Amino acid sequence: MKEDASILVVDDNEDNRYTLKRRLKRMGLKNIVEAENGLEAMKQVELQDFDMILLDIMMPIMDGYEVLKRLRSESRFIHIPIIMISALSDVEDVVKAIDLGADDYLLKPFNPVLLRAKVEASLLKKRLIEVEKNFYRDYDKSTQLAKPDLFLGSLDGEMRNNPDTTFAVYYFKFTTFQQLSHSTGHQDAEKHIKHCVDILKTIFVGEHYFFGRLADDAVAIYSIAKKCRFFTEQLNIEKEVLAPLDDAISISDETIRGVGQIHLGICLTTPKLHNGGQLIANSSFACETAIKEEKKVAYYDKDIHKKTLEKFKLEPKLKQALIENKLVMYYQPIVLGATGEIKTFEALIRWPTANGMISPGEFIPLAEETGLILEIDDYVMTAVCEQVGKWIKQKPKMKFSVGINISARHWADEKLSAKVINLLALYDIPGNYLKLEMTESALVGNIASVRTNFDLLQSHGIQIALDDFGTGYASLSYLLDFPFNVLKVDRVFIVDIETDEQKQKLLPAILQISKSLNMESIIEGVETKEQVDIVNQCNGDLIQGFYFYKPSPVADIDQLDIFK
Ligand code: C2E
Ligand code: CA
Ligand code: CA
Repeated sequence: MKEDASILVVDDNEDNRYTLKRRLKRMGLKNIVEAENGLEAMKQVELQDFDMILLDIMMPIMDGYEVLKRLRSESRFIHIPIIMISALSDVEDVVKAIDLGADDYLLKPFNPVLLRAKVEASLLKKRLIEVEKNFYRDYDKSTQLAKPDLFLGSLDGEMRNNPDTTFAVYYFKFTTFQQLSHSTGHQDAEKHIKHCVDILKTIFVGEHYFFGRLADDAVAIYSIAKKCRFFTEQLNIEKEVLAPLDDAISISDETIRGVGQIHLGICLTTPKLHNGGQLIANSSFACETAIKEEKKVAYYDKDIHKKTLEKFKLEPKLKQALIENKLVMYYQPIVLGATGEIKTFEALIRWPTANGMISPGEFIPLAEETGLILEIDDYVMTAVCEQVGKWIKQKPKMKFSVGINISARHWADEKLSAKVINLLALYDIPGNYLKLEMTESALVGNIASVRTNFDLLQSHGIQIALDDFGTGYASLSYLLDFPFNVLKVDRVFIVDIETDEQKQKLLPAILQISKSLNMESIIEGVETKEQVDIVNQCNGDLIQGFYFYKPSPVADIDQLDIFK
């Protein structure tokens, strides 16, 4: 029983009111208001919302019938449960009241068990009506699909939570809806949509597809692209989605045969490019294109679409390459800006194929999206530790370290630190030979595991570098919470710095922050002598860039003077 339910007791007899009130209180109900006639009752309902009314029939000034009539004629009062109170001798009055819209009745003198049961039932009914009302505020009545606001809110939320993932929206438009609605009637048109939705639900199966009714004649589905088998399995949408829809419609329903014209627009995007509203608008635009070009399906941007499909095509190959140990590590020397002396390296992965080298810029984002990145990181960590172990044996006195890129997803995995610490032991390397790189994206969202990994790794002497500094969207305050050893300033701050006065001001400011927080700086992407000079003038520590060294295979690194 909802204890805070409010109940109006209307009776001209004070004893009756008293008895009812006492019994209701005994049931745990606290919020009880009394009225001694109909007019009073009408005043009270204007003042507050009631969950139930107990209403006497015979009263002076305004009787119970009149109250009933007035309440039931207004939509805002239509759902308040009303229980009539009547003397045993006036049972016929009750029948009349029920006709006027009363929900139930109680006879005087009150039977406490019956009173309780009827009050509880009425309150429950009110709750159900409210639940239903709330439900249909968000969901469409005939299809039970989310209404536009809910659909958009849900999509936006998912996009915020998965910033690195590709999202897809399928926008189905029932171009004959209006026509159907005008000819055979709105009901038939609704029936048609409902039927199509039922079919779609047998095609888009699983909780990762979210359906919405975006207009009378439009239904949309969104999904994370990598969880959508139409993309990952490269299925033919026309054959797998639209054909069964057409078939099923014509087979199952005579009345709508031949009028079930459906067009589909598809848009794929990532949260970095578009928000939910734009994604939906673009998919609807694609659908309009399909209609205009008299095609069944159209994609918002064919290039993006093609690229996404190609990307997914690459995944099984990448997996295979990983299993077959085809991925190799290159190492890029990083030098002291002032002297050019090699101080450290960054390990960078390479994927050689028959058609040339595939850039990590291409396959790392894919691996991040599909989750394969965890296995790639494992592979890289092992390969690098093994190599570092070899270099230490080769040159036991040489001081150096190697930076490893660790994906944000891996930083959020509490097993990361144990893995690295095990590798240190396995290859017999002191912690200070390793530097783990993290991007700002690891610091948005749930950072409890990041924190644990960070502290544990640092306590083993491993340095932690903040990579691509300045390109993420995390707030700077994390620099206070996470004492990074190294700050890697992204290449964007260096490109064209020779001529860009803003960058000439920004770089020293960034390096100042780095110094004040006791971080060593690495300036990335330095390609010219002029850039080296500018970095040195700004007191940058280390430089990583093609001006000094490109990433190279181990065989080439072994030829460097420091290894001789
Ligand atoms: P990153 O971590 O920012 O790595 C530095 C990138 O800058 C490397 O690109 C490197 O070759 C490039 N670079 C270095 N000096 C210069 C320069 O002077 N000019 C220009 N234009 N570029 C320079 P790369 O090797 O193509 O890697 C791209 C990104 O892929 C890396 O960016 C990193 O985010 C990711 N990545 C590479 N290897 C791995 C890996 O083993 N594991 C993971 N998780 N990510 C990796
Ligand atoms: Ca890096
Ligand atoms: Ca970087």
